[in-house]
Amino acid sequence: MFEGPLTESILKRAQDDKLLDIHLHDLRQFGLGTYHQVDDSPYGGGAGMVMRVDVVVNAIEKVSTLTPALSRKGRGSTPHRIYFSPRGKKLKQAMVEGIAKKHEWLILLCGHYEGIDQRIIDGGFIDEEISIGDYVLTGGELPAMVLIDAVARQIPGVLGHEESAQEESFSKTLGRKKEYPHFTRPEEFRGLKVPDILLGGNHKEIEKWRQQNLQ
Ligand code: SAM
Repeated sequence: MFEGPLTESILKRAQDDKLLDIHLHDLRQFGLGTYHQVDDSPYGGGAGMVMRVDVVVNAIEKVSTLTPALSRKGRGSTPHRIYFSPRGKKLKQAMVEGIAKKHEWLILLCGHYEGIDQRIIDGGFIDEEISIGDYVLTGGELPAMVLIDAVARQIPGVLGHEESAQEESFSKTLGRKKEYPHFTRPEEFRGLKVPDILLGGNHKEIEKWRQQNLQ
């Protein structure tokens, strides 16, 4: 599933430039028995399967020993462990910036089926539960890719000059507001015109217009 978003464009370049290092770990590799079982039916009954506490905690602990190659702190580095869940804290740009600033190593746990055994959270094996919105997806892979992309944009050097993360929607620079509208050539398309002020070249006026058009 991770092919594509992680192997194209800005994220690919970031990995090629050794600014970002991503490793995928298949939970089945830690599964039990011949079938590498990672889930089981829920206590109390009901539909669906639940990811097992023993399998998931074993996986988290093993992966936590694999100090990332890019770690500045080397062996002393500890991972920030995130579990994706619709029950988690809703992801916002300020959270993305905080994660990028505070943590150089993330372990992202992608749930499946009904989710994970609650003891994985209650036992302190997860540091943060994050939701990417009030809807239910099939698994945590898409949320993980969303987080990786959003956090990677905050890593110095990942974006070129032209793609600066400073003046984007929800950034501090724009007062956490939504960005002003953009226009490019042609000046007129089917009667739709570019606002005169943007054609005038008066930078003060343009800046004022942009500030007025934040949402
Ligand atoms: N039973 C769960 C519930 O009702 O909240 C939904 C489980 S969902 C089918 C399977 C997995 O997808 C979750 O464990 C989680 O990792 C991921 N997931 C689904 N929707 C998500 C969302 N909005 N944000 C973050 N992760 C999500």
